[in-house]
Amino acid sequence: MESPSPAPRRVLLAKPRGYCAGVDRAVQTVELALDRYGAPIYVRKQIVHNTHVVKRLEERGAIFVDELDEVPDGAIVIFSAHGVAPTVHQEAAARGLKTIDATCPLVTKVHNEAKRFAAKDYDILLIGHAGHEEVEGTTGEAPDHIRLVDGLDGVDKVQVRNPDKVVWLSQTTLSVDETKETVARLRERFPNLIDPPSDDICYATSNRQAAVKRIAPQCELVLVVGSANSSNSKRLVEVAKAYGAKAAHLVDDASYIREEWLEGVTTVGLTSGASVPEELVQGVLKRLAESGFTDVEEVEAVEEHMRFALPYELRRDLRAVAK
Ligand code: SF4
Repeated sequence: MESPSPAPRRVLLAKPRGYCAGVDRAVQTVELALDRYGAPIYVRKQIVHNTHVVKRLEERGAIFVDELDEVPDGAIVIFSAHGVAPTVHQEAAARGLKTIDATCPLVTKVHNEAKRFAAKDYDILLIGHAGHEEVEGTTGEAPDHIRLVDGLDGVDKVQVRNPDKVVWLSQTTLSVDETKETVARLRERFPNLIDPPSDDICYATSNRQAAVKRIAPQCELVLVVGSANSSNSKRLVEVAKAYGAKAAHLVDDASYIREEWLEGVTTVGLTSGASVPEELVQGVLKRLAESGFTDVEEVEAVEEHMRFALPYELRRDLRAVAK
């Protein structure tokens, strides 16, 4: 008698995945600045949290620095997609540096909300991860009014001046479900807590999580392509596990996949964080095909059409050349 043929091995490919409009804009900003002004171009912090993107831009002449004191006088410096505190703009202006601000417009929106509520003297409960660049930038808009709430643990610790005058805002790349839980707990402590005028968790973060929720229950393993410092990528791993994947791993590229992860697995889910170029996902698909995962089905949760215009300073200079 013939032995039964092995179960077919398949990949469920989440859509949307990869580059969001803010990352696309930020990476293009560095590339076009290199074309327009020539190397070197300085970039404060990683332009987006992806090691491959940063390396590729470094090879073209971008120099990534942590702080402005590493930027020489007269140089051009780009601010990353995660945004900066006003003190960074002030320092750059005081030094006469030419700056291009690649802050994602959806991060700028949160900065503006913080300024508005601070002007009305609210205590602002900012849900986010301590030390994340975006949180540092937003906090810098209203340091006397913003209190960081780092996950559920932060709810009991946070102190406010007037419990009846509090609003919550959040980092753009958090887990949608966990943030809802944190807000519910905050509301138990502060029943008059005000919601932000619109969601701070951005469309790209929530859409990528929605797609993972669709595939995870059918997968023994979910692979998330993304770098270890990418907040939205790490959240995708957590969401995959919470929605039924037996295992989920973050991989920077195909070389990070361990053969033992694939043992006994028939369905792998695959997605990527908002700062990940599609070619890295294609590399993972190729690697999976070598292990017999040749049947690939794309599962779309939400259609995306978002685009952002390039930073004004860059558009102006590019127009001047075109004339
Ligand atoms: S993840 Fe969201 S907030 Fe961050 S750059 Fe992309 S669109 Fe902007």
